[in-house]
Amino acid sequence: MGSKKRTNLSIASVLSQDVLPEGKFLHPHNSPLYLSSTYLYGELDQAREVFAGRADSYIYGRWEHPNARLLEDKLAFLDKGESELPVRSLVFSSGMAAIHTALEAAAIPGSRILAQGNLYGTTADYLISMQHSRSWEVQFFDPGQLENANELLRGEKPVSVIYLETPANPTLAVYDIRFWSKLAKRAGALLLVDNTFASSLLQQPLVLGADISLQSATKFLNGHGTGLGGVISVKSEELYKQVQRLRKLQGNILSPFDCWQINNGLKTLILRMEKHQENALRIARFLEKHSAVSKVNYPGLSSHPDAALVRKQMKGGGGVLSFELIGGKRKADRFLRRIELCRFTASLGTPDTLVQHPASMSHVFMPPAQRKAFGITDSLLRISVGLESSEDLIGDLKTALE
Ligand code: PLP
Repeated sequence: MGSKKRTNLSIASVLSQDVLPEGKFLHPHNSPLYLSSTYLYGELDQAREVFAGRADSYIYGRWEHPNARLLEDKLAFLDKGESELPVRSLVFSSGMAAIHTALEAAAIPGSRILAQGNLYGTTADYLISMQHSRSWEVQFFDPGQLENANELLRGEKPVSVIYLETPANPTLAVYDIRFWSKLAKRAGALLLVDNTFASSLLQQPLVLGADISLQSATKFLNGHGTGLGGVISVKSEELYKQVQRLRKLQGNILSPFDCWQINNGLKTLILRMEKHQENALRIARFLEKHSAVSKVNYPGLSSHPDAALVRKQMKGGGGVLSFELIGGKRKADRFLRRIELCRFTASLGTPDTLVQHPASMSHVFMPPAQRKAFGITDSLLRISVGLESSEDLIGDLKTALE
């Protein structure tokens, strides 16, 4: 439709409309960027079928677009792992947008959300800030305490969501997804797992029993620190439809350009993650032996308190670690002022090594009492280990620790 009567048009009409070239030009080697908010239909009846949901096509960029679909298929493949689960993924404008929509889909007003205490600071801030307007009661807990788990289900309000983040930001604690998925099932609740630190390359929460797997694609999936993104993966058709509908209503789908960037990032994810992990393990071992360091948290170390669980549910320790310095905040500040090759900034999963101070940066909006209760001390520093030479990185850390 539309392109049939193109003769004798005025300049204004010709310049206003795109009639795409056909044939070989429509088979580019790499994915083009589809910068179109709407899509055309061959025939009127076809349009009606698509709008009625009986035919699969694109309608409007806030619902779905080709760059999102291409990326979502790859992300679902990662989250499915070696299972045969019918996993589907949806992409969002940021990790927080994905967390927001997942909680809106899963948490029931008037119910309780059991949330891990040592979470990414903005997630904790979100839960605390939203609980009143959504009529949720948020209860922070320590998912490492398995013996008290049944107690958590007792209470006036039923539990609709158990929320984990494993490995945890910034303590790198690792929690048992299988265990908490069984408890969630018993309670009639859904288990949500933020899988940002491991990424769906190293851990598949849905295969381990979770109902919703969440990731900030801003980190390892993009891999270059050049954009934002978030992912929800589910294995139930009902949840998929619910989340997809909420995304359409809330308008928080990821833009074509950010999808395109993350799709490029995925092409090197395996290679990058291998190098992130190799460097992280070397640095963790170096820090473990250093006299200025009191504690190193890295899931890939055999000294990690949950090393056996790491081997069971992860395919590697990932690219992030944290450590504590003897001498508290004063020593942490001194260290931050002295690093040179390592860069002083928040975020993670980039080619360069990023160092930050959670208590005053990524977790500054978490109530101080919660930070204290869940091990986010003033002397804790977090490193997202990059792809540089590990000798150069260790040299930089050695100088900064002197
Ligand atoms: N989850 C974790 C574990 C994070 O570290 C972050 C951000 O640092 C987020 C979620 C939020 O992601 P985004 O910044 O893409 O909104």
